[in-house]
Amino acid sequence: MQTVIADGNAVWLRAAKKYIESGEVVAFHTETVYGLGANAFDDGAVLKIFALKGRPADNPLIVHVHREYDISRLIDREPPYAAALRSAFLPGPLTMVYPSAGRVSKHVSCGLDTLAIRVPSSPTAQAFLREVDLPVAAPSANVSKHVSPVTARHVYDDFNGKIPLILDGGACDGGIESTVLDCTGEVPQILREGLVTREMIASVAGDCRLYHAAKGERPKSPGMAYKHYSPRCRTAYCVSAEEARKLYEQERAAEIRISCARTASQASSADARS
Ligand code: AMP
Ligand code: MG
Repeated sequence: MQTVIADGNAVWLRAAKKYIESGEVVAFHTETVYGLGANAFDDGAVLKIFALKGRPADNPLIVHVHREYDISRLIDREPPYAAALRSAFLPGPLTMVYPSAGRVSKHVSCGLDTLAIRVPSSPTAQAFLREVDLPVAAPSANVSKHVSPVTARHVYDDFNGKIPLILDGGACDGGIESTVLDCTGEVPQILREGLVTREMIASVAGDCRLYHAAKGERPKSPGMAYKHYSPRCRTAYCVSAEEARKLYEQERAAEIRISCARTASQASSADARS
């Protein structure tokens, strides 16, 4: 199979729709990382994602929809705080976990009775999702344990010859995945931290908890049990910009190639200082 990297113009959007309707998998840009998408109603297409990524069969997928998609078709109920959070943060990097109506393929949630839904803000993702007008199940478009892809080229490196199309929207702004928020209880609970923070959620919902699995308990967000991000080089985590600068200078002096990335919270504290 030939893998085409194309921008989201009308011709390629139509091609993407055809691929999705015929059970193929299409990669697409989002504001966090590139996604590997398939029709969430189609068992075979959803299973293809797991096979392509080498993803464990108990690590559920997030369903992506366009901003006008009526999610009440997919979920059983929505607490009032979740409706408020949707208006405040969507489209954007917040995934909301609801009691599922059981309409999408059972492989999407790996047998859980919940469904994770996200409305990405990337114009490429919105154009693609609007064109297909179906819920699209999509994990990050990398082979499991590889670093999440933030350019179309990264996706190509992992899936050249295995998928027909990558919808290129440029480099992703986020670089880290969406916040995963459990909206099945009285109070929202963060299952995976991301770009939308606990404080941001609490400011709208009144309260927000950070979930920690008790020892021996199966985590509520099964993906958190697996190893993530295995870069093929030495890495270090610095808690301040000063510490990072020191390490950077030290490694450069030893003629070691080094690059730095900042998390959103580090960026705000470093910016406040400089
Ligand atoms: P990925 O798309 O690879 O970034 O991973 C999706 C994340 O969402 C994983 O951590 C999953 O465990 C989590 N997730 C997806 N669906 C659900 C769900 N129904 N309940 C809880 N967590 C979920
Ligand atoms: Mg991932």
